[in-house]
This record gives sequence, structure tokens and C-alpha cells, in this order.
Amino acid sequence: APLLRLEGVTKQYGATRALDAVDFDLRSGEIHALMGENGAGKSTLMKILAGNTGRDSGRILLDGNEIDIRNPGEAAAHGIAIIHQELNTVPSMTVAENLALGREPVGRFGRLDRRAMVVDAQRKLDRIGADVDPRRTLGELSVGMQQMVEIARAVSEDARVLVLDEPTASLSRGESEHLYRIVREMRAAGTGLIYISHRMEEVWDLADRVTVFRDGRLVGTRDKSSISPPDVV
Ligand code: ADP
Ligand code: ADP
Repeated sequence: APLLRLEGVTKQYGATRALDAVDFDLRSGEIHALMGENGAGKSTLMKILAGNTGRDSGRILLDGNEIDIRNPGEAAAHGIAIIHQELNTVPSMTVAENLALGREPVGRFGRLDRRAMVVDAQRKLDRIGADVDPRRTLGELSVGMQQMVEIARAVSEDARVLVLDEPTASLSRGESEHLYRIVREMRAAGTGLIYISHRMEEVWDLADRVTVFRDGRLVGTRDKSSISPPDVV
């Protein structure tokens, strides 16, 4: 069985069918790119996996077993992590506090625990080679660094499925290269990655499979081995 499978997933907003009987699967150790024009349904699929919205019909299977994702907590419990364009982190808190979020209530960290929290955060950042001081206020960092903090959190929580939404949209070239390295390492470790991107060269370099959506329908899925490289100027 694939790591994750969507079967006949449909989502309607009023008269708009944002997803129309979508079948989609993700293998472990694969980078599966999602492409499609605005309005194609990519965000809707991501919101369903994140537990931020429900589906009207269809099934979601993890390791072949049907699962419910009724809220973000259930998504996390199933090992599904989402890196949104609008970040999930809290900019007014420190990096370390953000990395501790969702595990322990931050208010409970006293002086000694705070030191432990910084050490723990440093370990999580080191794991992905992110050169960030865990004591800094998150909102003062570049968007790229804030994204690294989110990835560090997903890695530390052993996410089995990681969805990235246009992750390099606001990154510098160097930051993008770092992100590609981390993404490839996660793939090598067996994580399944759904990678939403408009950039054909990026998808070509990174993805094992590419799925294209249009008007809520899955237009097609291609293995990288079966497509020719894009004309990159
Ligand atoms: P994409 O992420 O590919 O741009 P979306 O999933 O955001 O596409 O949108 C798919 C379709 O559903 C679009 O027609 C969009 O306008 C519509 N849609 C998305 N969210 C809502 C919503 N909350 N209410 C009404 N329509 C929505
Ligand atoms: P994206 O392009 O990243 O999908 P959008 O700007 O389309 O973002 O959507 C931003 C928010 O507005 C989302 O929460 C989406 O669900 C909602 N939305 C999108 N399209 C519509 C729509 N036609 N009517 C109402 N809400 C919408």
C-alpha cells in the first residue's frame, strides 16, 4: 500500500467544486510535486490533509488504513506535517519556544526548563543544519530561516508525510539550495513529501513524480523517468 492515498476525495464550496473525485497517492521516500493554475484545488487538498477543512466525500488511507483528519491535532497524530506559506509559528516568541510548541504548554517552562528547551531546540536545528540561534525572537528572522524552524519541527516530530506549499517562494538562492538538501535527506530517510510548486525547473530537479490539477480534477500523474526535461533558459 502507498504511504498515503486519497480515494474519490470531493470538496465543494457552494457551487464551486474545489476537488472533484480526486485519487492521489504518495509513496514513502518520494517527492511528489503538485502543479496547477490558481484555483486548481491544491490548497484545498492541503487543507484537508492539515485537518483545516473537511471533505464532502471520499476516503483517506495511511498505510492502507482509513483515517480521519478532523482537525490539525489529528493530522499531527498521524504524522502529517504541513509547511504553509502563511507560517504556523508564532513570530513574537523565540525560536526555542516555537520548537517546543504543541508538545508542552510553554508557560510551564521555568528558568531551568527554559535552558533545557534551548538545548533541545539547538539539537533540532542542528539536525537540519540550520544556523539559527534558538534564543532569538522568531519574527526577527528572515522568512527562509522561519521556514527552517518549521522544517526542524516537522523533522523532530518524525513526520511521515510532509506537505510543502511553494516553500522557496520567498527564499534566497542559498536558502533554497539548503531547503532542497533537507528535502532530499528527508526523502532518503523515507518521508513522503508533497511539494507544491509553480517552478518547472525546481520540480524537474527535485520531484520523482508530478501530478497536475486543473479545476479540481487530477489531469495526470507522470513519473519523472517518463517526461523530458523542460526547456530551461
Ligand atoms: P489552488 O490552491 O490550486 O489555487 P484552491 O484549492 O485554493 O486552489 O481553490 C480551488 C477552488 O475552490 C477555487 O475555485 C477557489 O476559489 C475555491 N475555494 C477555495 N477555498 C474556498 C472557500 N473557502 N470558499 C469558497 N470557495 C473556495
Ligand atoms: P491560495 O491562492 O494560496 O490558495 P487564496 O488567496 O486563493 O490562496 O485563498 C485565501 C483564502 O481564501 C483561503 O482560506 C481560501 O480557502 C479562501 N478562498 C479562496 N477562494 C475563495 C472563494 N472563492 N470564496 C471564499 N473564500 C475563498
